[in-house]
Amino acid sequence: MNKLDECPKCNSELDLENDSLQVCKVCKYWTKAGTARLDSITIME
Ligand SMILES: [Zn+2]
Repeated sequence: MNKLDECPKCNSELDLENDSLQVCKVCKYWTKAGTARLDSITIME
């Protein structure tokens, strides 16, 4: 388990959207909890 507490992009606190998704409300970075991938950033509008 490699869960992020801070956004790797802007260092803001990540919100836990559900059991498997973490979302940064500042820059819209999101990652699946447990899979801290810095190489596949998708913007959700
Ligand atoms: Zn962010």
